[in-house]
Amino acid sequence: MREKLELPNKGKKLLLHSCCAPCSGEVMEAIIASGIDFTIFFHNPNIHPKKEYDLRKEENIRFAEKHNIPFVDADYDVDDWFARAKGMEWEPERGIRCTMCFDMRFERTALFAYENGFDTICSSLGISRWKNMEQINDCGIRAASHYEGITYWTYNWRKKGGSTRMLEISKREEFYMQEYCGCAYSLRDTNKWRTENGREKIKLGEKYYGKD
Ligand code: SF4
Repeated sequence: MREKLELPNKGKKLLLHSCCAPCSGEVMEAIIASGIDFTIFFHNPNIHPKKEYDLRKEENIRFAEKHNIPFVDADYDVDDWFARAKGMEWEPERGIRCTMCFDMRFERTALFAYENGFDTICSSLGISRWKNMEQINDCGIRAASHYEGITYWTYNWRKKGGSTRMLEISKREEFYMQEYCGCAYSLRDTNKWRTENGREKIKLGEKYYGKD
């Protein structure tokens, strides 16, 4: 049995920023089970290269269509992302480059919500145990604060079995399994770590949950 979730501040309409199918699968099923009206917003110009971006997006669209959830495919403004990341190329994961990256994605989410009649925004990013939830929540709250009537929902998607179900759903749906956070620098750093630890470099488009 799932807990029945409610939007903060008596919200009625949620815009869910989604980073990928594996992270949003559990978040989407929890929201659907609670009867909350929501739309998925895919804005992730951080994802590099384009082949990986398309793989992640297509998996997300496939799952949204399965549940009849509206899906907004926002711009892939990769030049803007790289421009904002200038000078932060060697920052570690969970550092200031990631704050910039979350800010950029949530700013666009909050703007779209404001212009299209949503009162609440949140993100599937926080369900990943590789991420710093406090950092994500700070960015989300900051983005929402620029728009009157928009609230960032800080719900902890990992709790009450959320992390376990995230993996179960990924296996059940045989989602594409990304092996790095998303940007060119996280791909570079993950490959460096793999090489140093005697592992093969990442091969895009090859691994799927439930198969590997
Ligand atoms: S490591 Fe992930 S969150 Fe950080 S900047 Fe790269 S894509 Fe964004």
